Amino acid sequence: MRATILQRDGKGTPTHACMTGCVIQCSNAFADESGELLAAPLEFETIGLCGSNLEIVSLDEIAKINRLCNDFGLDTIEVGAALGVLMEAAEMQDIPSKFNRTDLPVFGSSLNALKILSEIPLGTELAKLVGNGVVFAGNALGVKHIPAVKGQAMSAYDPRVVKGTGVTYATSPQGADHTAGLTVFFPVDHRDAKNAVNLSKRAQLQRAAYDALGLCAFNTSATGQRPDIVLNMLRGVYNVELSENWMDLLGRRVIDVERAFNKAAGLTKEDDRIPKYFTQDALTQPLESVFDVLESEMDTMWDS
Ligand code: SF4
Repeated sequence: MRATILQRDGKGTPTHACMTGCVIQCSNAFADESGELLAAPLEFETIGLCGSNLEIVSLDEIAKINRLCNDFGLDTIEVGAALGVLMEAAEMQDIPSKFNRTDLPVFGSSLNALKILSEIPLGTELAKLVGNGVVFAGNALGVKHIPAVKGQAMSAYDPRVVKGTGVTYATSPQGADHTAGLTVFFPVDHRDAKNAVNLSKRAQLQRAAYDALGLCAFNTSATGQRPDIVLNMLRGVYNVELSENWMDLLGRRVIDVERAFNKAAGLTKEDDRIPKYFTQDALTQPLESVFDVLESEMDTMWDS
């Protein structure tokens, strides 16, 4: 992608600060062949969900989907997942009679996907499915594989091979939200189910604290293992005493409030579950693996 952006020049840039003053500058702007802006930014999760998830390999086609999502204020993870279940429906023997199979998008092609997305302002039947997200779309079409928890689509990490992140998907009060506690940065075997709850808990506490402080999650790459840097920054700016475990206490307070909200809204531990097919349908070789973290471990992870 970087080479394409540089070669096209124009309004594209492979590095950009989405917030004034950011020195990491992980954002980008993707231009089309004539150098005109197509989408900004074109992110990993978007390429995962609107690209490889749909077997679409062209960055230009992915960027067009991204552009429409940006224009309509839609999340590219949710839209990519919803388009995926529409594509699965296109391969099913039976679909509800009110839908026309030839209108559905198919894996490997952006043609119908872009048409459906562009119809969102018109409120056509298929556009309503995509606009309402992956669970709504999957249930309406009777699709077996709906990758979501608490109504939110999963991001580009399969819980069968990144099991700590799978625990985050299942147990986060926010649903299958990768920003709530990714575990991919820990240098461990991510298929090991035994350590998954511990990793997820550490990641969720950290991310909740960073969110509450208004810090970009990507700072955790630099300071995640050195909370003292952030603590010293806060002590210096606000002239306050902060204990060494203050970040964890802050994260825990946020998660406790969110969990109390969910409980009052009627959610139970049965909502803290990964869709069953991730525990039954193994990925193919060489990564043959299912999500096999014990439910009893996840149910008690916030007890202490
Ligand atoms: S590191 Fe964070 S603030 Fe900086 S460009 Fe990336 S997302 Fe934006």
